[in-house]
Amino acid sequence: MIASLMPTYNRADLAFERGEGVWLYGADQRRYLDFGAGIATSSLGHGHPHLVAAISEQAARVMHVSNLYRIPQAERLAQRLVDASFADSVFFCNSGAEANEGMVKLMRRAMHATGQPERTRMICFSGAFHGRTLAMLSATGNEKYLQGFGAPVDGFDHVPINNLNALRDAITPQTAGIIIEPIQGEGGVRSADARFLRDLRTACDEFGLLLGFDEVQCGMGRTGRLFAHEWAGVRPDVVSSAKGIGGGFPLGAILATEAVARHLTAGSHGTTFGGSPLACAAGNAVLDVVLAPGFLDQVVHTGSVLREALEALVAAHPEAFCGVRGLGLMQGLQCVLPNSALQAACMQEGLLVVAAGENVLRLVPPLVVTPEECLDAVRRLAAAAARVRQSEPALSA
Ligand code: PLP
Repeated sequence: MIASLMPTYNRADLAFERGEGVWLYGADQRRYLDFGAGIATSSLGHGHPHLVAAISEQAARVMHVSNLYRIPQAERLAQRLVDASFADSVFFCNSGAEANEGMVKLMRRAMHATGQPERTRMICFSGAFHGRTLAMLSATGNEKYLQGFGAPVDGFDHVPINNLNALRDAITPQTAGIIIEPIQGEGGVRSADARFLRDLRTACDEFGLLLGFDEVQCGMGRTGRLFAHEWAGVRPDVVSSAKGIGGGFPLGAILATEAVARHLTAGSHGTTFGGSPLACAAGNAVLDVVLAPGFLDQVVHTGSVLREALEALVAAHPEAFCGVRGLGLMQGLQCVLPNSALQAACMQEGLLVVAAGENVLRLVPPLVVTPEECLDAVRRLAAAAARVRQSEPALSA
């Protein structure tokens, strides 16, 4: 008989009763070091007093009013994002897939409004993940996720990342823009080269295309800058955000330059829940912390401690791990042993991590994690590797 909760996930048999900082406390009476952070989402950790207070106070005052009225919390959050980024204007929604859908609509609409209605296609990249709506499945392009859902939505062309010739060859008179994750998350923490991102900007300028970055996972401070593309010094036209922007409260955003955003006029796009007083109170509380002086520098520092410890782990255990990649507090541990077995063993060692493509384990802790907690996590990873080797000697043969 089917479970009443639709079985779309292979869930671990573990539930949590509460969380504090980087720690989650299980119904099994054990505590877990959370280096998954709700898949790169609980950016301030669990039970952060400032975020909890902001949500509680706003919930008691007014949660939801619809977008038929002014929402001061949303106006403030938009202005702060504009002040801190390339963007001139922001649209709030509820999730990463919805932000990406809106990004595609915005790019198509801008082409239409500037007399190029035939330009509707987006160039995307192999290994990408943009979400689970029908159009974002097509943008993702992964056969496994598309299977059984009928013909893929048309309008998305795929090329390998970091291959400028392939990218330029894929541009046609129907191309509207390019959408790329500066660092692929689900794909296995694979970075686009800074040079490649700059070359994308050049190609967009040359062919009159729009450049969109999906920063749903790598943005909002995760790499030590508010947005990951800042490291490459590239100016996008549009950026999508979600996950960490609400610190665990559902919130997404599309950030855009005025030249593009002005084409989404009243009535052309909408959402019931997006940008509610409650969601934006959460977003403002997250920004209070992430934009506080020194916070992002601390992410860079803690990220480098984690990176060094992971490199030492790889050197000490070549039979289990073969490399590390990523930036800041978005690190991917490339595994020799199966990542799913390691993920399960980590849980037994009291460490939560997330598997990703190319046999990678993702380490995406809350941004408030300390260097000591990073070293603790790496010790647990070593113990997990030993556990897998013991239980499955054939795997390491
Ligand atoms: N884009 C990226 C880069 C993601 O990592 C994800 C989720 O993992 C999404 C989009 C989809 O976000 P959501 O699950 O909030 O729809």
